[in-house]
Amino acid sequence: MTSLIVTFALGMFSWTFLEYVIHRWLGHDPRYRGNPFGVEHVRHHAEGNYFAPTPKKAALAALVAVLIGGPAAWLAGAHGAAAIGGLLVMYGTYEVLHRREHTHAGIGGYGRWARRHHFHHHFVDPKTNHGVTTPLWDLIFRTYRTPGVIPVPAKLCMRWLLDDAGAVRAEHAARYQLRGARS
Ligand SMILES: [Zn+2]
Ligand SMILES: [Zn+2]
Repeated sequence: MTSLIVTFALGMFSWTFLEYVIHRWLGHDPRYRGNPFGVEHVRHHAEGNYFAPTPKKAALAALVAVLIGGPAAWLAGAHGAAAIGGLLVMYGTYEVLHRREHTHAGIGGYGRWARRHHFHHHFVDPKTNHGVTTPLWDLIFRTYRTPGVIPVPAKLCMRWLLDDAGAVRAEHAARYQLRGARS
């Protein structure tokens, strides 16, 4: 049982690497422009509040579960199933975390870090900070940058950053600035 938990955790960990690879190369490398993930991801950057439809992603996750999880369970038994299970659980966690970074102010140190890391990627330099759940692979591949004050284009601004008057909330003012006019 203990070893199955370890396998499950390794499956979760392997998602963090995939998250980096998919985002950096399929999302942002011009050599792979036009791939289905890249098309959705470019739109996510351009519109800010756009996310690829959940049914599409759920269908893909189900496909992975069947096409990879099936053979993995057949080849490696419970360990194969645990590894793919861990991977899919961490993938789901990533989806929820990424969406909430855009829709809600973060809670605690990790929540604040994750938003600054990700919005530096969105608004300062999309060639850096590709990791969403962890900085690990950015550190290994030397794409990690510590964000300064992040200039947020008004048109793409996250709702949680603003007060009712449309200004950056006082508690975020040292870390984010609004740029340009709202349309
Ligand atoms: Zn994003
Ligand atoms: Zn991106």
